[in-house]
Amino acid sequence: MIWESLDAELKAIEAEGLTRRRRIVDSPVAPEMVVDGKPVLAFCSNDYLGLASHPEIAEAMAEGARHWGAGSGASHLVSGHLRPHHQLEEALAAFVMRQRALYFCTGYMANLAVIPALVGRGDAVFADKLNHASLIDAVQLSRADSHRYRHLDLEHLEFLLATSTAPRKLIATDAIFSMDGDAAPLEALYELAEKYDTWLVIDDAHGFGVMGPQGRGSAAAVKLIPSPRVVYMGTLGKAAGVSGAFVAGSAKVLEWLLQKSRTYIFTTASSPAVACALLKSLDLIAAGEARRQHLASLIQRLRDGLAPLCAGRGWQLMDSDTPIQPLVIGGNAAALDLTRALLAQGIWVPAIRPPTVPKGQARLRITLSAAHSAAQVDALVNALATLAAPADGHLAATENLS
Ligand SMILES: *Cc1c(COP(=O)(O)O)cnc(C)c1O
Repeated sequence: MIWESLDAELKAIEAEGLTRRRRIVDSPVAPEMVVDGKPVLAFCSNDYLGLASHPEIAEAMAEGARHWGAGSGASHLVSGHLRPHHQLEEALAAFVMRQRALYFCTGYMANLAVIPALVGRGDAVFADKLNHASLIDAVQLSRADSHRYRHLDLEHLEFLLATSTAPRKLIATDAIFSMDGDAAPLEALYELAEKYDTWLVIDDAHGFGVMGPQGRGSAAAVKLIPSPRVVYMGTLGKAAGVSGAFVAGSAKVLEWLLQKSRTYIFTTASSPAVACALLKSLDLIAAGEARRQHLASLIQRLRDGLAPLCAGRGWQLMDSDTPIQPLVIGGNAAALDLTRALLAQGIWVPAIRPPTVPKGQARLRITLSAAHSAAQVDALVNALATLAAPADGHLAATENLS
């Protein structure tokens, strides 16, 4: 039977310790959550500003649903482009200081739209090896030739660009890498894009709302030139706390995307209530300097706390000053064991394993939120300190707890 091979493959995944499981959350997204019926302190979400369960955003969504109803009824290009969607697109463009923006139901769909709209068969895409899966899939969908350069390696990128004869070229990069937390050198990438006449597609899923003045994103943070060749994508389910994504850029490029984006044209527009919630979220992001400052202080506190634990253990903090703070453990089983031991202490940190990260680099992916307190970060550091203690180090572990 055709499904018998599934059985064997599922068993193989299980044997490698790579089976993915979901836990059921019984509370709103916040540092303190109820998971599988038990209270936990969570360091898992991408809710960097603590807006996912913000009462004003929830109220804006409820009010939006009362006024506009729950559904949009059709795609944006038929009859589903309601006033709140349009206001949101204008507000997003203004916020990231570009001429025009389009709102998509998810970041995955935004990436699937942009790359196939800009390049096709015979063209070439140059992509950082650690780009998000949605960018990788988007390149496949475009049928352009894929050239992946070593993570952040501009010399490798330039070598590939210089030897390409493709008629149209596109550089695609995460602005902040989702599993490492490090940042792409956007200005240097822009210089290469100018030199070799390429598009530059920036996926700022983890920077929008967090980086730059008023949270305007990673491109604003480095004052990147708003050239038509720069296409900026930000997602709205992470720091913005709701859902969806947008693509922003020059008016002409966005008009082209409106005509060509299959994941904008052939899908039902998201609920207008979501757009209402996002308009409120944008206000809170812009006024969120205190949240961003608190978040920065938590990041420093976590790193200061974890650095001494890494030394003797072979654990490694990555070169990240963003809310994504991976602690690389190594083996799959070791990372999973740590996650389980933390959960036994009421702390939830996900283990990320291959193929999401390279083999031998399984890690705890710690993410911080402005909703965390300093005491909660200390609780995580103390729990890891007890687990880092050598087997005969029970005394040291107990001291760390007190
Ligand atoms: C989360 C993420 C996406 C996908 O965004 P969704 O809105 O969750 O579909 C795209 N790119 C990167 C880098 C991401 O981290």
